[in-house]
Amino acid sequence: MPELAEVEYYRKQWDAGLRRPVDAVQLHAKKRIFRGTDTRALVRDLTGSRLVQSIARGKQMVFRFSGGSWLGIHLGMTGALRTEAAGFRPLKHDHLVLQQPKRALIFRDPRQFGRVRFYHGRGTPDWWSEAAPEIGSPDFNARYVSEFLKRHRRAPIKAVLLLQSGFPGVGNWMADEILWRARIAPSTPSGDLTAAQRTAFRRATRFVSREALRIIGNDNADPPASWLIHYRWKSGGVCPRDGTPLARATIGGRTTAWCVSCQPARGA
Ligand SMILES: [Zn+2]
Repeated sequence: MPELAEVEYYRKQWDAGLRRPVDAVQLHAKKRIFRGTDTRALVRDLTGSRLVQSIARGKQMVFRFSGGSWLGIHLGMTGALRTEAAGFRPLKHDHLVLQQPKRALIFRDPRQFGRVRFYHGRGTPDWWSEAAPEIGSPDFNARYVSEFLKRHRRAPIKAVLLLQSGFPGVGNWMADEILWRARIAPSTPSGDLTAAQRTAFRRATRFVSREALRIIGNDNADPPASWLIHYRWKSGGVCPRDGTPLARATIGGRTTAWCVSCQPARGA
């Protein structure tokens, strides 16, 4: 599942096409990724327009084109963006191809859990303006985090951290990394976090997001060896801080790894 940093990595793959016109659009209109999207309008309005900007917000990306067109892309499980030389002929899973004079911009998605949205007109499309605040933005403040945790107070903090409506872009490995850094047991009900834990939680969320974006988002490099991610899937994986064997359980429907010594359960 692409997470924040991977999304940022893919967003940049189309940078080569910035300020360049789209000569033609090729797409597989019947594919599931275009559900609810007017693909005729997409082809009509993007043809002849120029790519002017791209933004990633959580797992959602938007590509803006001259003339007021917005192309939203969600990568889902297997979606990927890339470029190829001009005149590229789309392969089976290349569901959207924008042909430019010197290159082709391609969205490929074999399993089609991704999504392509399109908007043309004045203002900002709802699917973009209603997205949760970015973790790096000023709106992601102590008050926002406290209110979100309060709204989901009975749910384990690990499950809440995976809600895209609150923490856009955080996926499974990042959630485990954040809770390990904040020293919070993943099963802790969100409403039971102390004020100090909420602060540690928000700081760790910002830190892991920022560092993941910087390290992975730039050239798909690996996080430092001190991060939990390198140990969580290893058999006999241990906490990189103190060597305690990692505990594993399914929380919020996802496999969760944590250190019982650094992240003790309440009352333990
Ligand atoms: Zn530990």
